[in-house]
Amino acid sequence: MPGLRSRHTMGPGLDFVDLPSLSAAVHQCRKCPLGHSRTRAVPGVGPSDARIMIVGEAPGQNEDLQGEPFVGAAGKLLDQLLRGIGLSRGDVFITNILKCRPPGNRDPQPAEAEACSPYLEQQLRLIKPEVVLVLGRHALARLLPGYESISRLHGKVVVKNGVSYIPVYHPAAALYNSFLMGPLELDFKAVKTHLDRVEERRQVAAALATPVPKPEEQLTLFG
Ligand code: SF4
Ligand code: URA
Repeated sequence: MPGLRSRHTMGPGLDFVDLPSLSAAVHQCRKCPLGHSRTRAVPGVGPSDARIMIVGEAPGQNEDLQGEPFVGAAGKLLDQLLRGIGLSRGDVFITNILKCRPPGNRDPQPAEAEACSPYLEQQLRLIKPEVVLVLGRHALARLLPGYESISRLHGKVVVKNGVSYIPVYHPAAALYNSFLMGPLELDFKAVKTHLDRVEERRQVAAALATPVPKPEEQLTLFG
């Protein structure tokens, strides 16, 4: 397609130069039937250099109408959980496995997830997040295939290709099953612990990389 600034627009060879060209392709995409039933496609939002990426399942009704991920009830809970660990939406890139809403919010079908996966792969390649929060079992199955179920893996850190993936319960699941709310809050505490540890390591590395000041500089510092 002209004007999309991608070398390819279909299949596994698809290779976008930046997030806007990827979003433009998603808005025109008809690679699976959801491209015909959606109101608006929902490519994702957030800074292109986000250190944290959040991957949900698929747009729901509100997301489909507004073209933004997590703007409904699950989104409010996600915002609250992020705030609880000192983060806001502006700090993270948020997207989903599927960029278009499945009718009636049914589960994503394997063929749809497969058709849509190059977009998520490209987002991971372009953003290069340090940490990926994997929301719920569908995102888990897609991002960490062959790993354990969400009930076993939630709150744990899985390092794959240099990226730390942290599966957590899906906020919508916790809204539906209130017994998951406590575990979901603990999952976010685990995320905070991991982020703090990453920051600590970064500071140690920065301190080690800083040359030791010469004696006269030390005098001006402390004298
Ligand atoms: Fe394309 Fe993904 Fe939307 Fe299907 S769900 S039409 S693959 S963007
Ligand atoms: N649930 C999701 O998984 N994604 C959204 O964008 C909204 C609700």
